[in-house]
Amino acid sequence: MGNRHAHPHDAAAHPAGGASASDHPPPSPRRKHSSSANAVTRLLCGNGRFLGRPMEDVRSTYIIGRELGRGQFGVTYLVTHRATGEQFACKRIATRKLRSKDDIDDIRREVQIMHHLTGHRNIVELKGVYEDRQAVNLVMELCAGGELFDRITAKGHYSERAAAGLFRQIVTVVHNCHSMGVMHRDLKPENFLLLNTDEDSPLKATDFGLSVFFKPGDEFKDLVGSAYYVAPEVLRRSYGAEADIWSAGVILYILLSGFPPFWGENEQGTFDAIIRGHLDFSSDPWPSISSSAKDLIKKMLRKDPKQRLTVIEALNHPWMREDGDAPDNPIDIAVLTRMKQFRAMNKLKKVALKVIAENLSEEEIVGLKEMFKSMDTDNSGTVTFEELKAGLPKLGTKISESEVRQLMEAADVDGNGSIDYLEFITATMHMNRLEREDHLYTAFEYFDVDKSGYITMEELEHALKKYNMGDENTIKEIIEDIDTDHDGRINYDEFVAMMRQGNPELVTGSRRRR
Ligand code: ADP
Repeated sequence: MGNRHAHPHDAAAHPAGGASASDHPPPSPRRKHSSSANAVTRLLCGNGRFLGRPMEDVRSTYIIGRELGRGQFGVTYLVTHRATGEQFACKRIATRKLRSKDDIDDIRREVQIMHHLTGHRNIVELKGVYEDRQAVNLVMELCAGGELFDRITAKGHYSERAAAGLFRQIVTVVHNCHSMGVMHRDLKPENFLLLNTDEDSPLKATDFGLSVFFKPGDEFKDLVGSAYYVAPEVLRRSYGAEADIWSAGVILYILLSGFPPFWGENEQGTFDAIIRGHLDFSSDPWPSISSSAKDLIKKMLRKDPKQRLTVIEALNHPWMREDGDAPDNPIDIAVLTRMKQFRAMNKLKKVALKVIAENLSEEEIVGLKEMFKSMDTDNSGTVTFEELKAGLPKLGTKISESEVRQLMEAADVDGNGSIDYLEFITATMHMNRLEREDHLYTAFEYFDVDKSGYITMEELEHALKKYNMGDENTIKEIIEDIDTDHDGRINYDEFVAMMRQGNPELVTGSRRRR
């Protein structure tokens, strides 16, 4: 047997094997060496900060345990939270390995994108970022089930039903990325981990090291990705987000057969096969695979990116929907869901979230800032009704005029008729920001002006009046709603309960913690 049935575990597909497109000339941005040594010195030594905030020893909060895996820039460890005993994974990136400004920019972008995408069930959650003298530490959700890649290797290939279940999760990740203005650029089985060892464990996308922010119509030229998965237009160095669909199509082919659709004796051979784009459905096990599955693969692997299925079309393909719950209508994009949630909140919570939004770090909000900028087409610093109406469909969602109006009114906390930058962040940030006790405390203190430990009627009135919403009835309603011990004022516990209400996951989270 030659390489024809080469398993994806072969060197060319695996990062450890190293034969990825980014490892060979022409160089990827990660490899590009710029002359900005000065910038590096400034960032790493100048103020002693890498991500622009105070150094913090990750060991003061977590006990570092065994090694879980190694990547290009760092080692990932199992860590245990000292106070709660909860286990996480901590990716430790040695700052001495970050030699060029591009390396630094890449890591910074990876952190920004992980913050931006947080909250999706198939994307690993970033819990915190700590920087010390030697390293940047990314503490994230622990995926104890290992790599999808290793499961494929162990199984050979998946049944159609099992593959559909996994593939649906992969495509929802792509949908979430694209609607949030992120192109993944390195979709492959190695970048999906299993949350636990169960047969039906959820998948989590973990590695956003090559991902970039993009706007519809942007053209990219960097040759990045991994050989088997790279789209033909990436090889031609002119591509957009459709390249992710191609890579996902390659993953599906591998899930169903155990071998890659395009391969060669060496990397160039693989690239030639990709450019030819011939799909072999004659070897085993393809004759016994449904024509619907093959139809989906063919449509995701169309050479012309314009002819390729969109992510919504892929999610609505009959093969994906069989036994599945993929809906007829396009799935809501995350920012829209968040804006809808925001709309339903009481006014105290809205103002509290605004205080929290003001205190988020730059890296946490940079992605939302990009989205705001892409909607603010006249660069005025505010998004008007017209801009919101034009901007939301570009993110891949259908929305009626009256819905836009409702969202507009909800997000416009100060009621001046347009959404400013801070209001946009407030209405679209993910509610897992509330997990941070210091955020909640800062918000409480904002209202509790005399630091008595209670938010009184007067204090609430004062705070809400600033936003034209301090009428007596509203204030009474809010207090009655939240004041569970009926003493006419709001204590910290009542405030926290109110903030976490409607976020079931967070409520469980806080219980676990006690
Ligand atoms: P890369 O250089 O490809 O970005 P990573 O540092 O992301 O590599 O990951 C290296 C290895 O660490 C992974 O292959 C995986 O085995 C392990 N790993 C990474 N993230 C997690 C996680 N959240 N939970 C468990 N293991 C992880």
